[in-house]
Amino acid sequence: MKFQPFFIALFATITLFAQEHTHKSSRALEFPNVPGYITLKTDLHQHTVFSDGNVWPTIRVGEALRDNLDVISLTEHLEYQPHKADIPHPDRNRSFELALKEAKDHDLMIIHGSEITRQAPMGHSNAIFIEDANKILHNEAEDAFGEAKKQGAFVFWNHPAWYAQSPTGNPILSDFQKERIKNGELHGIEVINVGDYAEESLALALEHNLTIMGTSDIHGLIDWEYVGKGIDRPVTLVFAKERTPESLQEALFAGRTVAVFNSLFVGKKEHLVPLLQASLVIEKAEYIDKTSILEVSLKNVTSSDLMLENQMEYTFYSSSPVFTIPAGESKTLNIKTLEKKDKVTLTLKALSAYVAPKEQAVVNWEITLH
Ligand SMILES: [Zn+2]
Ligand SMILES: [Zn+2]
Repeated sequence: MKFQPFFIALFATITLFAQEHTHKSSRALEFPNVPGYITLKTDLHQHTVFSDGNVWPTIRVGEALRDNLDVISLTEHLEYQPHKADIPHPDRNRSFELALKEAKDHDLMIIHGSEITRQAPMGHSNAIFIEDANKILHNEAEDAFGEAKKQGAFVFWNHPAWYAQSPTGNPILSDFQKERIKNGELHGIEVINVGDYAEESLALALEHNLTIMGTSDIHGLIDWEYVGKGIDRPVTLVFAKERTPESLQEALFAGRTVAVFNSLFVGKKEHLVPLLQASLVIEKAEYIDKTSILEVSLKNVTSSDLMLENQMEYTFYSSSPVFTIPAGESKTLNIKTLEKKDKVTLTLKALSAYVAPKEQAVVNWEITLH
C-alpha cells in the first residue's frame, strides 16, 4: 500500500507519453526555412556498435528526436569492425535497418550510409543514399568509390584535417581525391567534424565546388559529448525543395547547405545570407517620439546565439556596435538616422558566420516605415 503514490505517478507518466509520443526536449535545434526551401536539420555521420561506436542504433534515433533533427545517417566503418567478435554481422546493412524500424512512427528520415575507411592519403569518406553497403566493401578504395557511384551515392570526405591522418592539422587534397572529384565520385567535404572547424577545408570546398558539411561523428552518447558540456552537436542544414529523401539528395548534390556548430555558421554566401536573413525577424520598427532615433526590435528565431556588428553609416544610441542576440531572444537597437526616413536598410555583419576563410556574412534587412 505504501507504494501507491509511486504507481499513480508512474501511471500518469505512461499516459502522458502515450498521448504525446514526442521525444523533443528543451535542447531542440531550431532553424527557419528560407525562401523557396525547407531547412532540414541533419547529422549524416554517426557510429553505433555495428562499427566502432558504443550504442545500439535505436539510441541514435532517440537522440535525434530529442535534438529535433529531421534526418540522420548511421555511417558505420565498412572495414573497421572492432566489435565483430561479440556482434557478428555479415550484413553491413543491419545498422540502417534497425534505425529505420525504430524511426517508423516518427518524423525522422533515416538515410542509408557507410564510411569507406582507409589510411591517408585516401582517408575516410561517407557514402550516403546507398542501396547495399555489402557491395561497397572492396579491397581497392577506387572500387569502393566506383560502386558507391553506381548506387547513386552522395559521397563526402570526412575530417580531412584530422591530425592522425594529417599531422599539420590541415587537409591535403591528394591525387586520390582529385581523381574522385574528376570522376564525379566525391561531392562534399566536412568543414566541421566533432568540434573541429578547418578554414582550409572550407577553402577546398569553395575551390572545388564541394558541398559544405558539418557532422558530429558521434561514437559515444550525444548527451555526454555535447549536451552535458553545454554545447550542441554539429549539424548540416540542407535547403530542400520538399521534405523527402529525394529532395534532400538533390539539395546535397546541388550544394545547398550550411554547417552549424553552436554559434558558428559556415556556408556558401548564397545559402548562408538567406538563412541569417530569416534567422533574425524584425518584430517592431518605429521612431521614438519627437526624435530621429529608430527603434528596431530583432528576434533571433534560431537555437544558436548570433554575434553581430553594425555595418551601417548610422550609429547606435546606447548600444555597442557589437552585440549578441542569444538563441530565441530579442534585442532592441536604437538607430540614429539623423532625420526621419521612409525606408532604412539595416546592415549587420554576422561575426561567427563565414562565407569564406576570414570572410563573414553581411546581411541586409529592408525596413519600410510609415
Ligand atoms: Zn572517420
Ligand atoms: Zn566516422
